[in-house]
Amino acid sequence: MSPKTIDLPPSSITFPERCTACGEAPETQRTLEIKKGIDLILFDFQSEVEVRILVCRSCGRRRKWTGILVYAVLVAGVITTGVTGYMKLDNEGATPLSLGLFALFFAMIYFARNRLEGWLDRVLLGVSGVTFSDSGNVRLRFEEAALADEVEKMSSSRQLP
Ligand SMILES: [Zn+2]
Repeated sequence: MSPKTIDLPPSSITFPERCTACGEAPETQRTLEIKKGIDLILFDFQSEVEVRILVCRSCGRRRKWTGILVYAVLVAGVITTGVTGYMKLDNEGATPLSLGLFALFFAMIYFARNRLEGWLDRVLLGVSGVTFSDSGNVRLRFEEAALADEVEKMSSSRQLP
């Protein structure tokens, strides 16, 4: 397995008529959300481009439920960390430990919002959106170079000369 990254204009992106993950007949779609900009957790100054990919029902379901499960575990961890940090703060004042836990709390939220979805897409569906440029090209990262080559070829045949 060799990963490959390609850049394409979003309007031309064309995927073959099969599940990107397992190659079975496509039954549903999933949206890759590609974000760019500054994320300050409470306020974000991000713009977003969406790319639709084709998946079969079981791969789509597996991606959805893995996402929910990972988030649930992460949220539980964040809450535990936050509560522990807060209690320490209450009893002893701001200790390095409580400040460290607080930093970890934000780092985890940041990771979930900015990295986790893309990582799950790539691992479970074979492709993820990385970023997009000011000229409008979207960067997609594929687990399999063969699929990347196929998408690149199909998409370029749709581009205007
Ligand atoms: Zn599938």
